[in-house]
Amino acid sequence: MDGKVVLITGASRGIGAATARLAAAEGWRVAVNYRSDWAGAEAVAAELQSAGADAAVFCADVALEAEIVSLFDAVAAHYGRLDALVNNAAVTAPIGRLEDYSAERVERVLRSNVLGPILCCREAVRRMSTRRGGAGGAIVNVSSAASRLGSAGEYVDYAASKGAIDTLTLGLAREVAAEGVRVNAVRPGLIHTGIHAASGEPGRVERLAGSVPMGRGGEAEEVAAAIVWLLSDASSFCTGSLLDVSGGR
Ligand code: NAP
Repeated sequence: MDGKVVLITGASRGIGAATARLAAAEGWRVAVNYRSDWAGAEAVAAELQSAGADAAVFCADVALEAEIVSLFDAVAAHYGRLDALVNNAAVTAPIGRLEDYSAERVERVLRSNVLGPILCCREAVRRMSTRRGGAGGAIVNVSSAASRLGSAGEYVDYAASKGAIDTLTLGLAREVAAEGVRVNAVRPGLIHTGIHAASGEPGRVERLAGSVPMGRGGEAEEVAAAIVWLLSDASSFCTGSLLDVSGGR
């Protein structure tokens, strides 16, 4: 692995934390980003370190440009290199119909889920593109099956934000394909994490499990496996790919 460094946004729990664990096990040095869950991020980093991996914690709200720029500067100062980015951090919103959305709600979702990932891609490309003197690298954007299902009656704004992530992935992949940077996305389906409780329905995965052809929700580790594969040289000819990890849903 040669000391390669991956920055994972929103790695204090859920899919981001599972990705941090698997990436570390595969030999990546891991920059663990979080926004508010300091204890969760520290616990993830401590677990990686106790397994012999190199991990460090970086606080930043990826909805804010200044914090994103500081985050990438801090990772560069700590590790002296950046080889990969996982754009994982995102939020949902309370379950409800679009006719009841406030502008503040939609802005919050789009800032975290679209503006933030785009600006994180900007900072990563500035450091990794061979056109900018970098050594190349990989970006994996965490989208959602919601981008093709639409989340009617739940959070159409969140689904639309993930549609933007799919298009970002396609466009940026083509823009930097000849500059050593691969850009792919995973689209998880219903995964057992705390994100469902945050939108007001902790039992959402169980309620909808019957709509999954495989008949069950997924685990964060199953998504992490796809992400870490897309980060690795094993996927060296993949760019602009949208990989569904959704049990067939
Ligand atoms: P989660 O358990 O709620 O974890 C979200 C993580 O993102 C936390 O570490 C949180 O950190 C961080 N975060 C949120 N907003 C942030 C911000 N503005 N700046 C920095 N960090 C921020 O969610 P998850 O289920 O693992 O979701 C991870 C990704 O998978 C998201 O992109 C989500 O849309 C996608 N996804 C999930 C599912 C699913 O069923 N779980 C399905 C499809 C797609 P703090 O706690 O420190 O704020």
